Amino acid sequence: MNKQEQDRRAHLLKMREERLPGIKKNFEELQKRNFNSNFAPGGKDEKLVKKPAKAAAKTTKKATKTAAKTAKAKAEKPDVTEAEKRKVNLSVSTKKGEMVHHQRMLSQDVNAQATQHIIGVPVNKSRYNGYKGAQVTNAQLKSARPDPEAVRIIPIGGLGEFGIGKNMTIIEYKGEIIVVDMGVLFAGDDYPGVNYMIPDIKYLEDNMANVKAILFTHAHLDHIGACRHLLPKFNPLTPIYGTDFTLGMIKKQMSELEDIPELNYCPVDPFKHEQIKVSEHFSVEFIHTLHSIPGNTAIVIRTPNGVIYLSGDWRHEEKPMGVQTDYERIDEIVKKEGITLMLNESTNIDSPGKHPHSEYDVGDNLGKVMDNYASGRIIVSCFSSQIGRIELVLKEAAERGRKVAFSGFSMINNLEVALRSKSIKVPKDTIMKMEDIIKLPDDKVTIVCTGSQGELNAVLNRMVTGAHKYIKIKSTDTIVFSSNPIPGNEPHVVNTVDGLLREGAQVIQNGKNHITNLGPLHLSGHAYYEDHVEFVTRLNPTNYMPYHGEFYMLEHNAEMAENVIGIPRDNIIISDDGDVVELTKDRKIRRNGRITVGNKLYDDADQQVHEAVIKDRIHISREGIFVIILTLSKKTGRLIKTPDIVSRAFIYLDNSEDLIGKIRHYLRTKTDKSVSTDPELKTLKEEIKEDITHILFDATGHTPIVIPVINKV
Ligand SMILES: [Zn+2]
Ligand SMILES: [Zn+2]
Repeated sequence: MNKQEQDRRAHLLKMREERLPGIKKNFEELQKRNFNSNFAPGGKDEKLVKKPAKAAAKTTKKATKTAAKTAKAKAEKPDVTEAEKRKVNLSVSTKKGEMVHHQRMLSQDVNAQATQHIIGVPVNKSRYNGYKGAQVTNAQLKSARPDPEAVRIIPIGGLGEFGIGKNMTIIEYKGEIIVVDMGVLFAGDDYPGVNYMIPDIKYLEDNMANVKAILFTHAHLDHIGACRHLLPKFNPLTPIYGTDFTLGMIKKQMSELEDIPELNYCPVDPFKHEQIKVSEHFSVEFIHTLHSIPGNTAIVIRTPNGVIYLSGDWRHEEKPMGVQTDYERIDEIVKKEGITLMLNESTNIDSPGKHPHSEYDVGDNLGKVMDNYASGRIIVSCFSSQIGRIELVLKEAAERGRKVAFSGFSMINNLEVALRSKSIKVPKDTIMKMEDIIKLPDDKVTIVCTGSQGELNAVLNRMVTGAHKYIKIKSTDTIVFSSNPIPGNEPHVVNTVDGLLREGAQVIQNGKNHITNLGPLHLSGHAYYEDHVEFVTRLNPTNYMPYHGEFYMLEHNAEMAENVIGIPRDNIIISDDGDVVELTKDRKIRRNGRITVGNKLYDDADQQVHEAVIKDRIHISREGIFVIILTLSKKTGRLIKTPDIVSRAFIYLDNSEDLIGKIRHYLRTKTDKSVSTDPELKTLKEEIKEDITHILFDATGHTPIVIPVINKV
């Protein structure tokens, strides 16, 4: 290296040393400007920034000073001072207390909505509660010792819930358990994204080895709908009893599983009056009773402490379509053995009188519809398990030379099981496939389909929207709702009816005879008040336990038993899911203790949904969600880019520039201040969450779920 070159390098080095502080400073300034360009002069949030340079300088100075004192200060009252230092003026007009109040009210609402079905120790001060109207205390529950000589009746689901469903009952004696029914409950609109719920069977899982038999009263989903989730949990050798149709429906459901379990199905013929000894102490007998599905039964359970009559679902008809309820056998048992305890369903206890008509009347009226609207297609919508109703449609259609096609997954499934178990009579050459029937003239076409409850994805609605593969509603069509809306479904049914009427079609709904001059077109499957009075009188039970119903139904059922039948109040118990009811050796009933019960929630993909997720969904549906993503420098702890803000189901960001500007300003100030006191990320997140919630509440009156995400790079 020559002298000239050496001099040149020395000069450059010197220059660099002289200019280095300047370059550093420029770099820092530049960085600051980039990080917060929105607040820089000309930036879109400029107006929100008050004297940024000075404020920043002050903070930095303070920071250096404080750093020296930190150790000492921390020892004295660290949190208050540090937190105070990080506090940012939020420039809000609402007090924090108002926001907290709003949040508390909101969380109360969300909890109330999300826990309608979840049972801890429910309030039950009914005079039939087994404690003479006093609420059971935790101390009483804790000190409850099971009577070793008592038969224990434990409802796991179906009592006192919001809606009717997930019926399941345990009968237990000296370490032997029998299980009756495994139903689902369809969640209402209050449970966003939840399709159905099933009983939590923890108690049975803990006592699996004791389960001697599983019995099913009938094949409605509120009695068998949980089978595919629950049956695989039991020992596959456990005998499963039910009628042919009921077991057929269960097998159909199980066949939807990927691994179909080999189970010990034991078909029962209720007309044989067989007393099946299912364990050392229990024998069971299935009794044929009328309801709205084939193969329906009640179950008589003989125990060392007397006979229990478990009604299942039932109705009374003077002139039934099929075989009459087996009153003869019931009377025989009542006379010879007596009923020590009757569990009686409560569904229609609020309906006065008796059933005013029979299923035959419904059939006649379906025929009249076909006569009155003879030139067009007839579309009958009913519950898919109403095999008797379907048989009537087939009969009336065949008599008029009409053909019948079926549509809807559950409709076709149920029909298959009914045909296989010989539960339906089908006239010759009447049933056709959908793709063939549409080629016939309209006056030969009858269609039976699902969707009578206004279900969005069911066949009827798909026909309305034009989404059905074969049928689009025409103005010459006549649609019959051979059903009543289940409470809660009314608005959906109205929606479907409106859609049909808009297409110009005729709609014939049950219960609107004054408009259509046709009806009745439906018959409820459950006994009315006077039917209950007659039947309970007939059974003359010593003890009485209403089941299968919401709380008011249980209460009204109990009142009937006391006031009309004359069963002493002390012999009647209204319990909730999980309550242990003991039938003692001296044939008395009493409540004694509780077991763990609850719900498992499932979405329409059969995946379990956690309760916490439901609460979040409800919260978000009401208030929205607000996500802030901050990128801080690992070295300096400062923001190195404008925070990303995501708002969903809350405010539309493009219309909220002022608010977003305010939030960005807050975030910049907050992170600047936090650098000086260097809080844990967790603390910083909490503080940001609270402040942002306050700013949002101040601007909108809502407190969305705020999620701060902090990345350090
Ligand atoms: Zn039923
Ligand atoms: Zn039922």
